[in-house]
Amino acid sequence: MNQETAVEFNVEQQLTDIKNNLATVKQRIIDTCKKIGRDPASVRLLPVTKTVPAERLRIAFAAGCHEMGENKIQEAREKSEALADLDIKWSIIGHLQTNKAKYLARFANEFQALDSLKVAAELDKRLQNEGRAIDVYVQVNSSGEESKFGLPPEAVRDFVQHLPQFSSLRIKGLMTLAIFSSDHDRVRECFVKMRDIQAMLRQEAPAGLSFDELSMGMSGDYELAIEEGATVVRVGQAIFGKRPLPDSHYWPGLG
Ligand SMILES: *Cc1c(COP(=O)(O)O)cnc(C)c1O
Repeated sequence: MNQETAVEFNVEQQLTDIKNNLATVKQRIIDTCKKIGRDPASVRLLPVTKTVPAERLRIAFAAGCHEMGENKIQEAREKSEALADLDIKWSIIGHLQTNKAKYLARFANEFQALDSLKVAAELDKRLQNEGRAIDVYVQVNSSGEESKFGLPPEAVRDFVQHLPQFSSLRIKGLMTLAIFSSDHDRVRECFVKMRDIQAMLRQEAPAGLSFDELSMGMSGDYELAIEEGATVVRVGQAIFGKRPLPDSHYWPGLG
């Protein structure tokens, strides 16, 4: 095989792999929904593309990934520029520093990790400058682990009372990362806690905010999350393969 053919073969292979992985995840979403009597259309699959190079994301786009979730703004920004010719909806799912809000405001369609009023204010201001509004989720630390970002559950009620003033933030729901544990009961507990907070907010949140969306569940736990009411699952490794470095690299502070 000459080099060009090898590259083409590789692209074909990657396309097939991603398509197969996507089909598997989608089928498992459908099976889980059937098991508990939910409509599979009520669950949105957000492919998480962190650490996956832009060229591979071109292939992922061809395989049907038209939304991409990234946890670091700099990486997301570079990829959105490299792939500007494709109609990709970018979702930022990781902690945002206030001084990076201006970048997010330029290209992101969604921000799932709001956990401070300072960030809310800055992002709202930057979005207004751009003449845009985006969907926003409030991140909750449902596991209580110090390494995780997000509001403590007991702070959510007061926090959301301040959000209506930010007219460029369309509040849609809540996001969480469950505890990393092989103990399903402990993982499920995190998801149940989120569902309870959602129910409370439906009663007590200010008018105009919506908490219909629950973004929870990743490659290792998305089926459990769906069972407990997830409407968005954020799946990376089950679609793109294992990341080269362990989770502790991407979530500093983890064991
Ligand atoms: C990386 C990441 C995911 C996806 O994790 P996988 O194990 O690759 O499925 C989901 N949510 C957030 C916030 C992430 O950073």
